Amino acid sequence: MKLASRRGKLPPIPTLAMNTKAAELKAQGVDVISFAAGEPDFDTPDHIKEGAIKALRDGQTKYTAVSGIPALRQAICDWVAEHKGVTYTPDEIICTVGGKQSVFNALHVLLEEGDEIVIPAPIWVAYEPVATLAGARVVRVETSEENNFKMTREELAAAMSPRTKLVVINSPCNPSGCVYTRAEIEGIAAEVLAHPSAMVLTDEIYGKLLYDGEEHVSIASLSPEMKARTLLLDGFSKTYAMTGWRMGYTCAPREIVKAMDTLQGQSTSNVTTFAQYGGIAALQGPHDFLDGGRAEHDKRRQAIVEGMNSIDGLSCVMPKGAFYVFPRISNLFGRQGPNGEITDSMDVGVYFLEHAQCAAVPGVGFGDDRYIRFSYATSLENVKEGIERLRAAVSLLG
Ligand code: GLU
Repeated sequence: MKLASRRGKLPPIPTLAMNTKAAELKAQGVDVISFAAGEPDFDTPDHIKEGAIKALRDGQTKYTAVSGIPALRQAICDWVAEHKGVTYTPDEIICTVGGKQSVFNALHVLLEEGDEIVIPAPIWVAYEPVATLAGARVVRVETSEENNFKMTREELAAAMSPRTKLVVINSPCNPSGCVYTRAEIEGIAAEVLAHPSAMVLTDEIYGKLLYDGEEHVSIASLSPEMKARTLLLDGFSKTYAMTGWRMGYTCAPREIVKAMDTLQGQSTSNVTTFAQYGGIAALQGPHDFLDGGRAEHDKRRQAIVEGMNSIDGLSCVMPKGAFYVFPRISNLFGRQGPNGEITDSMDVGVYFLEHAQCAAVPGVGFGDDRYIRFSYATSLENVKEGIERLRAAVSLLG
């Protein structure tokens, strides 16, 4: 049997691959601490579950419009207006099966052969492969640790051309945790507006996870011109601990939403109907639990950064958002482990898993092989124990 060559453009998704590996080892009785997939460690709040349970009991078990029920799309409009300061109407919203389907469908309706997409690295693992699958040329902007992994306006300007169709930004960023300031977002907007055929895809899924008084600025909120050039992606997974519900959304100009609706209608159709009612309960319900979650994450953030920096050979900048750290591990390259010389982030990931029983995601999938990603959405106890295991394992390298 010969599989389609197109599929060769999509590697297995490393975030979930590492998560599955950690789960398998745990099932075999290995005491693995998973710092792999980015998912909140608290359960979906009860009032959200109740919203979905009630919908099921009320018989909300049939198809809905592909883009989602009007009440959910209206609730998204209200939430985005309140939390991001951007006004949309329901026909500018499409609900998708996780934020991931928003990425996949948005890139597929916009990009084709001859188009370029500017992607700052490091960034979440799916952007480059999916853009490549869609036929576009990826122009990767290598950001620097010195600038906290943020793409400057000058770097963006150098990467753009008349063929640039899309620029991706992700603030707070997965994996670096960097947060763009208002001035930095304004600089990016000015550069995009100077290129008539360019649009921005802003991935704001970590917008509610900010520390140190950082502000979340949506590029779409800057001006009506910028809103017309923006696809705003968000979802329920990270904010409301709803990763398994698979609910995300895109806010974008009608023409784009309509094209995404058509594509989605040929694949998954609507997000699970009763889950959509849970989504309404999430958006319209209390949000006070977010403060507690953020305070917990903040303690873990401080502990993991301090811990990483106390290990010889590792160094880690303090992230300002999300729940990831992206320590530099390239100082371990050239050292000897039981499987031979450590040469890249995959080797480090395997070594950490096998000899520290800590699962993390190698940086190569995020576009920078000198780093590795740890999600600290796990208990403080696990963070502290993980650091001690890593310290011991690193000290054993020859
Ligand atoms: N986005 C999360 C992560 O980066 C979940 C896994 C995934 O969808 O890739 O870990």
